[in-house]
Amino acid sequence: MDNSKEYERKCIELAFLMFPGIDETVDDLEIKYPERNLKQDAFVTRFAPSPTGFLHTGALFTSLINKKLANQSEGRFFLRIEDTDRKREVEGSVDLLTKEMQQFKIVPDEGVITGTKEVGAYGPYTQSKRENIYKTCAKYLVEKGLAYPCFCTPEMMEKTRKMQEENKIVPGYYGIYARCRNISIDESIERVKNGEKFIVRFRSNGSHLKKTSFVDAIRGKIEIAENDQDVVIIKSDGLPTYHFAHVVDDHFMRTTHVIRGEEWIPSTPIHLQLFEAMGFKAPTYVHLPTIMIKEGNSKRKLSKRKDKEAAVSYFLKAGYPVDAVLEYLLTIINSDFETWRNKNKDLDYNDFVVRLKKVSISGALFDIQKLNDVSKENIARMNSKQVLDNVLDWTKKYDHDFYEMLNSNLDFAQKMFAMERDNAKKIRKDIIKWEDIKPTYFYFFDKLYEDDLKEKGYMFEVIENNTSDKITKDVVKEVLKNYLNEYKEDFSKEEWFENMKNTASRLNFCVDMKIYKQNKDKYKGSISDFAGIIRMAVTNRKNTPDIYYIMQLLGIEKVEKRINDALNSL
Ligand code: GLU
Repeated sequence: MDNSKEYERKCIELAFLMFPGIDETVDDLEIKYPERNLKQDAFVTRFAPSPTGFLHTGALFTSLINKKLANQSEGRFFLRIEDTDRKREVEGSVDLLTKEMQQFKIVPDEGVITGTKEVGAYGPYTQSKRENIYKTCAKYLVEKGLAYPCFCTPEMMEKTRKMQEENKIVPGYYGIYARCRNISIDESIERVKNGEKFIVRFRSNGSHLKKTSFVDAIRGKIEIAENDQDVVIIKSDGLPTYHFAHVVDDHFMRTTHVIRGEEWIPSTPIHLQLFEAMGFKAPTYVHLPTIMIKEGNSKRKLSKRKDKEAAVSYFLKAGYPVDAVLEYLLTIINSDFETWRNKNKDLDYNDFVVRLKKVSISGALFDIQKLNDVSKENIARMNSKQVLDNVLDWTKKYDHDFYEMLNSNLDFAQKMFAMERDNAKKIRKDIIKWEDIKPTYFYFFDKLYEDDLKEKGYMFEVIENNTSDKITKDVVKEVLKNYLNEYKEDFSKEEWFENMKNTASRLNFCVDMKIYKQNKDKYKGSISDFAGIIRMAVTNRKNTPDIYYIMQLLGIEKVEKRINDALNSL
């Protein structure tokens, strides 16, 4: 290459011809976007989605790590919208992404806040608004002879690609196949002057026969072939490619840690070359594992098209508490999160410190069962008021009729949720998500109880089939009739139980389970069969939490009516 002063002068001339109207310099940008004034080990991280639709679960995972690492180091976390591929953009997605991030409490410290609002001194944070910044940097590379205009048409590119394929040559725009790299600077100047259309390519000095390496903060040293492609940095629409935008933005936004998906590992040599060419210090790279899902015996990527769990909106609609989803994602991020959680049951998960060194690079498996377990525990830690508030929020959005039912008697609703919660010896753990509330607590509401009966009918036969064939219709009737006469609302729990035992005994149900197990033939059934019949009449379910509590809360009128109705139906 001609390194003479003349050549340097021509490079500058070419750069000015290619970028008319760009009068800022890279030095101006350095002043405009200075180093951040943060403490020494603070992380500056970002989440940088393309606006192509909803928030993907993998993206929530990435943004959560980014946010945690910045927050816990008193750094900054910002949101940048990468919209340089205008064809892929989906209208309204910035609003949707930011809204969904907010719903999951991933609120950036700066950057894009909504589709129409940005905050922060390092913006604009939407790439399509940064065209001149990229051009300033591309101009700098052309001036230095490190980038050049490429006039190849798509047809010419296609011809080269075919020829490379037929001859089994490494494909791409490099070395002798990089036609415009090899034309003289005079010709380039001439063609730009003549108004010929061009794109801008980086002049790579690498060779794919040589290895390069970099240190990934979770994977350690990664050795990989050098980049020898003269990648496009500015496209025909004047906007940069991802490669160039990443380098320019993460430098001028002063990102310290680029935390992104592992699919970017192969492109990292390009990025490192670009950082070097620009004279910028490269950030620390962190390539996160892709979230996988089990399919039969193998694993595959969580797919936007195939898996409902791939969209974060799924969790909101089903009513998983946001904190449960975040806690679950933390178990994927750092496997010691669970141990920490068990030791610190009452702490906020935000107190957990995420360690990059502990991010597993292989095991990012999305396991709905595990999420369900985490969610059950999360709900079990809530008191009745918290459950009520959450359920009201959720039903207001997703089940208005049920919301009205709850809201019409909040005191009743809270008591209902207090059952086997609020300092109870054994806290119930049967609720995974708010969607489960209605089918679990339905019998507290006459309308829902009646709808259930209409749909399923009385399920006394479940008792007959499952326990003993001695509990015939007549026995059920006898039990209900007797119980109706003897149940009193003002019984204490002990009185209630004593009374039930007496009635059961009188009707030849065994009140001692041990004795019953050894002498089944002598009895109609056990005390639990007896209680089961009452439970069935009152709730139309075989299993419920504490039936005494349920009857107390329903009140004697409802209890009697339900038992009477059941009797009449038999
Ligand atoms: N826009 C890129 C993507 O969505 C961002 C990757 C990065 O974080 O640098 O994959």
